[in-house]
Amino acid sequence: MTQLNVSEIREQLIERRDRLQDSVKRFGEAGNLVYLLQEVDAALERITNNTYGICIVCNESIEVDRLKVDPLIKVCLDHMNAAQQKMLEQDLGLASKIQHGLLPKNDLIAAGWEIFYSYLPAGAVSGDYCDIIEYKDGTDSLLFLLGDVSGKGVAASLLMSHMRAMFHSLISFDLKVNSLVERANRLFCESTISSHFATLVCGKANSKGEIEICSAGHNPPLLIKKNEIIKIGSTGVPIGLFCDSGYDSKSFVVDAGDILFLYSDGLTESSSNDEEYGEERLVKIVSSLRNSSPKELVNGVLEDLNLFLSGNSKTDDLTILALKRVNSN
Ligand SMILES: [Zn+2]
Repeated sequence: MTQLNVSEIREQLIERRDRLQDSVKRFGEAGNLVYLLQEVDAALERITNNTYGICIVCNESIEVDRLKVDPLIKVCLDHMNAAQQKMLEQDLGLASKIQHGLLPKNDLIAAGWEIFYSYLPAGAVSGDYCDIIEYKDGTDSLLFLLGDVSGKGVAASLLMSHMRAMFHSLISFDLKVNSLVERANRLFCESTISSHFATLVCGKANSKGEIEICSAGHNPPLLIKKNEIIKIGSTGVPIGLFCDSGYDSKSFVVDAGDILFLYSDGLTESSSNDEEYGEERLVKIVSSLRNSSPKELVNGVLEDLNLFLSGNSKTDDLTILALKRVNSN
């Protein structure tokens, strides 16, 4: 759960006020500088009066994620005026487009693996991270990632895009997956809102069928083999919690036809009539679909989830990623 850290917001506001005052001194009363300055002062006054974060119309709490993005807001979602609501809708539409542009190519074959994923935000944007990055070093290998930033909505989606940028920069260093996650963890710790963290699976796979996996507190990926299903357990804590966390990795060699199945908790924790979809049902369905293509497998699991939900809507971001080894040279 995300909580409102008022003292942190107060510090931010004071810093912004200093900057605004400085701008007014240098550029005069240009644009809406003075108006903004008044708004910042008013927000600081609400903090002093213990009314910060309370909607001035209905006296209910304002959504914490929204305050983190804009600490000056005074009304809850329900009490924005029509113009504000329209602007918010447009912003969310744009954010959603930007986020979809950050997703990897879908339904592809790379480094001897056939890959398919499904990325379904609960709202306009998702806090889940799904990525495939091919190495350009001639090793015929790729990095696959699936993460889940705590919380939902715009704040989580911003951290998701931050995480993506980190891994795309880090991939140029020749690091093992656990070192990649260690670096990402330190960067995440140093640069984010302290109350956020993320679970993550980071794996490397090559055309020889060798895989290396590091899991930072994420739901266990399933390695679906001809005669067994191996749950790949966590090798460290979620990222963003402790700067000095160490991570291990696990290595496997897989056969042609074996499938790696990754998912976010929006799948197993989906609930209907107080019952969770759960790992057991998931293992059963993937087991029955083990000879399918990644696309058929992902779609088959989604169908089974819909059957389970029987009309109830899902409430969390949901991502599923399947990689099947196609060659065996
Ligand atoms: Zn309200």
